[in-house]
Amino acid sequence: ETIATAAAAGAADADSAVAAARTAFRRWSTQPSAQRARLLFKLADLLERHAGEFAELETLDVGKPLMITRLVDVPFTVEAIRYNAGWATKLTGETFDLACAPTPFQAFSLRQPVGVVAGIVPWNFPLLQIAMKLSAALAAGCVVVLKPSELTPLSALRLGELALEAGFPPGVLQILTGLGSEAGAALVRHPGVDKISFTGSTAVGREIVRHCAEDFKRVTVELGGKSPNIIFADAELEQAIAGAAAAAFFNAGQVCYAGSRLYVQEAVYDTVVSGLGEAIENYVIGDPFDAETQLGPLVSAQQRERVEGYVEDGLRAGAERVAGGPRPDGPGYFVRPTLLARTDPSMRVIREEIFGPVVCVVPFKNAADVVGQANASRYGLAAGVWSRDVKNAHRVARALNAGTVWVNCYHVVDPHMPFGGWRESGWGREFGRAGVESFTELKSVALKL
Ligand code: NAD
Repeated sequence: ETIATAAAAGAADADSAVAAARTAFRRWSTQPSAQRARLLFKLADLLERHAGEFAELETLDVGKPLMITRLVDVPFTVEAIRYNAGWATKLTGETFDLACAPTPFQAFSLRQPVGVVAGIVPWNFPLLQIAMKLSAALAAGCVVVLKPSELTPLSALRLGELALEAGFPPGVLQILTGLGSEAGAALVRHPGVDKISFTGSTAVGREIVRHCAEDFKRVTVELGGKSPNIIFADAELEQAIAGAAAAAFFNAGQVCYAGSRLYVQEAVYDTVVSGLGEAIENYVIGDPFDAETQLGPLVSAQQRERVEGYVEDGLRAGAERVAGGPRPDGPGYFVRPTLLARTDPSMRVIREEIFGPVVCVVPFKNAADVVGQANASRYGLAAGVWSRDVKNAHRVARALNAGTVWVNCYHVVDPHMPFGGWRESGWGREFGRAGVESFTELKSVALKL
């Protein structure tokens, strides 16, 4: 149902937002860094104070269970803002002893804010993605225009209100709602924007990178994935099965690093498949506002069609559905968690990102075999390894082409740990020092003594 309407910004709105940002940048970038930190900490405190309201907004807008938005989305966002706030006062350059200078020099580097940043984010973790970008950019001394997804603008708008309440000066942080092809595209092409920080699909990311290349606008892109999750026969099977279900079905599979390719060593293949089938049967699917609900609907009718289309395509190509099934009756864009077996590497279900609760399960013989299969992907966002053999786990973790590898766990994303993709999963990192530094330019200064 329609729950709200939001303004659709066009090119003229993008122009005024960028003009306001450029004016604000001059003052914001020269303020004491402690003041930037203070305002960000205040924003985090305000968000924490309104945690219940934000959890409800996010559930209403995305359809994810309230239990999850309360326990994960909102508290994690608060900590992510605090983490980045801490960096505002800790960014430094280095000093250098020049290697080839015949006379003494004092040489050093400065980290300076890149300027006006346009942040463009998707709909699967709207609040967190907005907050990650704005807190890292503001901590680095940049100013930000943020465009949330047209499907989920509510928490971003409310966060904008809290930013005003926290005391951020006008123009430092702006929320611009609108369509990707209009508001988003206008920001990407705008000569007054110095950097694009994009999270979304690989297709749109590719188009954005192409535009940024024209004027060498700085750009980082966090894109899609088709992440392998690998269970060795010596794994703690109960944990691995529960982990594989969470890897594939958390947020109804609408997670960029979802473990959507599950590789299982032959000796335990049948056990894992039946364990996962049982987990699927037991999932509580329903109204995301019910306390018991573990899986909500997908975000939109279009997303459900896309996911169902992939499953049908896989079945037509010869895959077997070993668990899952038809749509649940009633309103809401629900898709049952689905387990596909007998896939082969040529099928779209195993090559392309589905972005729904669908996992392909594939048997493997040994480490070399599974590393080959896991790496045979154009993506490289994340991977999981389940094994009790420490050496094996380390060797496989090193061999996988992925920005993050989880061993005997999944979904461990933390503000301290850089996150991002290899290959077509993206350029650059968010979180950690690398995430904040991505909003800076490096300047070398050499002073002859
Ligand atoms: P999307 O690429 O369709 O849209 C993302 C954002 O870009 C939206 O705000 C949209 O309005 C905007 N946009 C669309 N076209 C644009 C254009 N031409 N110019 C500028 N902006 C434009 O992605 P989505 O469907 O919203 O989200 C799902 C995708 O996001 C998946 O592929 C998923 O893997 C990816 N994702 C990646 C990460 C990561 O960290 N790597 C995290 C979450 C989601």
